[in-house]
Amino acid sequence: MMITSWNRYPLVSHTNVLDAVHRHESLPITSGPLLAFGSGRSYGDVCLNEGGVLLRTRRMDRFIAFDESTGVLVCESGVLLADILDLVVPQGWFLPVTPGTRFVTVGGAIANDVHGKNHHIQGNFGHHVRKFELLRSDGERKLCCPDKNIDWFRATIGGLGLTGLITWVELQLLPIINPFMITESKRFHSLDDFWELSAEAESQWPYTVAWIDCTATGKRQGRGILMLGQHAPAQADLPTWKERPRRFPVDPPFSLVNTLSVRAFNLLYYNKPIKKGLALTHYKPYFYPLDGMLEWNRMYGRKGFFQYQCVLPPEASQEGIRDLLNIIANSGSGSFLAVLKTFGSKISQGMLSFPRPGATLALDFPNQGKRTLRLLNELDAVVREAGGALYPAKDARMPSELFRSAYPLWEQFSTFIDPQFSSSFWRRVKE
Ligand SMILES: Cc1cc2nc3c(=O)[nH]c(=O)nc-3n(C[C@H](O)[C@H](O)[C@H](O)COP(=O)(O)OP(=O)(O)OC[C@H]3O[C@@H](n4cnc5c(N)ncnc54)[C@H](O)[C@@H]3O)c2cc1C
Repeated sequence: MMITSWNRYPLVSHTNVLDAVHRHESLPITSGPLLAFGSGRSYGDVCLNEGGVLLRTRRMDRFIAFDESTGVLVCESGVLLADILDLVVPQGWFLPVTPGTRFVTVGGAIANDVHGKNHHIQGNFGHHVRKFELLRSDGERKLCCPDKNIDWFRATIGGLGLTGLITWVELQLLPIINPFMITESKRFHSLDDFWELSAEAESQWPYTVAWIDCTATGKRQGRGILMLGQHAPAQADLPTWKERPRRFPVDPPFSLVNTLSVRAFNLLYYNKPIKKGLALTHYKPYFYPLDGMLEWNRMYGRKGFFQYQCVLPPEASQEGIRDLLNIIANSGSGSFLAVLKTFGSKISQGMLSFPRPGATLALDFPNQGKRTLRLLNELDAVVREAGGALYPAKDARMPSELFRSAYPLWEQFSTFIDPQFSSSFWRRVKE
């Protein structure tokens, strides 16, 4: 069976793929290195283990306890965020932090310490984890929380699956009144406008994120649409909403994403009609627009694509984002998805967590071999110069030296790695 990550690159083979079925089971004894595999929604090789064994966790999907009065949920680590939402939203609770897809497991969300549109208010997923159990290959089960085994807690949150298997998790959820969001979209015409609008919006809205047209140049560089949201208060009239997911219909051998299609899409999207003022939107299209098109990753063809997500520190953000956009525009490569957001100042719990104060930019590029790798190397130079970092969950090629300088606690972290565990990502950045 072919196991790939979401961007379908790199293609690697594993010696075996096993299923973890229950939290009480012990770890399999394997001759090669082992790695947990959640839903494979990472881009790159953080969830791959070339020449080793993958331990899939999706069958460890039991809910263990839920206190409707406090919003404390306990579940196995293979439960999807989508399943949690289906259970808790009707009871007035929501995930305190969610990435842009709900088809990820709780274990995967912890191991990458994922962030969402509300980082400036709520921080990362790890900030809302009350405790979890870590199963080590020597059979030890460590209960990890902020007042017990704190070092293991900090190593495992954002620990890229390397410290052992997270078997179950206890989370604190966020109270809501109904499944709807109050939303507002604002078009902005340049990067300067973005910085101003975003700073103002973050003081008023819990959720903010911007799509930008990365093909625009000159005075229009960085133009885009800022999407704001907050959970809706109690209201008498709520619209009915029904999900109608579609599936990307073909698996083309080559990428349908090229300079022309990207240019046309960006122009159309930037100019799309925007409703003036506030709107009432169901949480699913607001948080998960990409989940509405199942298997959209196939549009990049069999060679897959690269996602490039970086964060630049506040003092270097404005100049650095401009430099990155200049390089992308000059390269002639573009991205449908260019997402810009500023992270808040909440310090991450995890030793290897990606979020840190500054601006984060995420882009998708079809894999055109050396040409794309050259472009990404040029982007790296800006990130390096700015003292920024790349996101391991979205990486298949960052140079080892960039990883080490951006994650200075990596050596301390290494002491917590389980001797039976490893990943393609880790071996690559350690070399
Ligand atoms: C459309 C889309 C939008 C996204 N948006 C965002 C976003 O807004 N913000 C963001 O931060 N990320 C985002 N991501 C990335 C995604 O949230 C993360 O990569 C997430 O960690 C994937 O979870 P998964 O269950 O698929 O784990 P996998 O990708 O399968 O694995 C991820 C890591 O978790 C480890 N792991 C999994 N389960 C366990 C376990 N039980 N115990 C120990 N380790 C484990 C794996 O070994 C691996 O290192 C997005 C991805 C997609 C496809």
